[in-house]
Parts: sequence; C-alpha cells; structure tokens
Amino acid sequence: MSTIFSQIVAGEIPARIVYEDETTIAFLDANPLAPGHTLVIPKDEYERLNDVPDDVAADLYETVHHMVPVVEDAVDADATTVAFNNGEEAGQEVPHVHCHIVPRFEGDGGGPIHAVAGDRPDLDDDELDDIAADIEASA
Ligand code: 5GP
Repeated sequence: MSTIFSQIVAGEIPARIVYEDETTIAFLDANPLAPGHTLVIPKDEYERLNDVPDDVAADLYETVHHMVPVVEDAVDADATTVAFNNGEEAGQEVPHVHCHIVPRFEGDGGGPIHAVAGDRPDLDDDELDDIAADIEASA
C-alpha cells in the first residue's frame, strides 16, 4: 500500500503544495509545529534517507536548499530547524522520507536539535577514536 505522502503526490488526497518539480514536492505539514512548517519529499517512495539513490538525494537537497529561505521569508521567521526523522526509532511515523523545515522565532519556546537525544553517552578518547575509525572506514 502506498504511503499517505505518495497519495498526496498522486493527487488522491489534498495538501497545500507549495513547490513541485520533476522529482520532488513540498507541502505544508498538516499538524504544524510552527506557521510555515513544510515537508519536502522525493516523489518516489523511499522509506529512509539510506534508501534514496544518489541522484534523487541531490534533487532532494536542492529543493530543501531552495525552500528554506523561501519558507523563512513567507512567515517572517528568524531561523529554521531543518531535520529528518530517519527511521522509526528516531520518531519517523510516515515511512516515506521527508525533510521537516520548521520555522523558528525568537522566544518560541523550542529547543535546539540537541534536545532530541536521550541520555548522553560518556565516551572516553579511545572509544571516540574507535567510532571515528569505523565511520571513516565506510565513508
Ligand atoms: P514524521 O514523524 O514521520 O517525521 O513526520 C510526519 C509528519 O507528517 C508529521 O509532522 C505530520 O503532521 C505530517 N503528516 C501526517 N499525515 C499528513 C497528511 O496527510 N498531510 C500532511 N500535509 N501532513 C501529514
């Protein structure tokens, strides 16, 4: 069964579409965290960023990059939090990769992206070196 976002792409359910090109589309979040909260998605359905082919990832980033200042200007935001919930354990509810552009305002009571994590790990230098080496080896 296709995701709710694929149904938006297909025009089967309504959405406030604010931008569209050949491979990506942006629309307002139905339950906004702030005025102008916008989602940017690839039109094709991929569950996670990890599944998105390189060319589509480039298109997706291009649209995010284009839309951030457009959204900020439209709602007169001071800043934006731009983020993906990448996987169910990270809070992703719709299994169709999407970037949140959340306008932020001075004194809006929100937090930084650091607030998403639970207990912070207490890692020593050796552990940090090992983790960095593992990541670098696969990058
Ligand atoms: P997630 O938790 O998966 O990162 O975020 C999914 C987002 O999609 C939520 O912010 C939610 O409000 C939004 N959303 C869910 N269903 C719909 C819908 O049918 N239309 C629109 N425009 N947004 C939706």
